[in-house]
Amino acid sequence: MSSSLQANRLNLPALAREGVPLIASIPLQKLKRIAKETQGLQPDSSVYLEARAEFRPNPGADDVVWLHLQAETSLLLTCQRCTGAVLVLLKVDQWYRFVATEDIAMAEDDQSEEDLLVLEPQFDLLALLEDELLMALPLVPMHDACPVAPTLSVGDADIAGESGAKPNAFAALAQLRRK
Ligand SMILES: [Zn+2]
Repeated sequence: MSSSLQANRLNLPALAREGVPLIASIPLQKLKRIAKETQGLQPDSSVYLEARAEFRPNPGADDVVWLHLQAETSLLLTCQRCTGAVLVLLKVDQWYRFVATEDIAMAEDDQSEEDLLVLEPQFDLLALLEDELLMALPLVPMHDACPVAPTLSVGDADIAGESGAKPNAFAALAQLRRK
């Protein structure tokens, strides 16, 4: 990786000119805000990162830099039902268009499908990655099926009724047979 392609002070036009995606494995420990959300970081925890920049023609003006960011990682989060660790897969797949100023970004953001960012000489790709991962975090991390039976509160009764319907029916049947 050349010095212009350091992920935390990235020269985006240089990356676009090279035409080769930046591919990296970022240790989760480097992403402090994400690391805080996890339950017990394994030493090999990392985020797979792929960033591809390109120039697109802009009639009557300079070419515009676009960035495609893809990332993937697995985090151990706290299950909100049983408080055990639950492995959650996070994925980022987003396009960004770079503009000259914050004013332009604000003005054009509503009518743009892509996200707009201000082009800085040293772009912090890691900060952007961390923002996207934080937004991809589930609001309520939860096992599909918790490994141990949770202690139910009154508010959970409906959920338990649905998922517990079958075993209860069998249990009822077993009771009948015993009579
Ligand atoms: Zn759980």
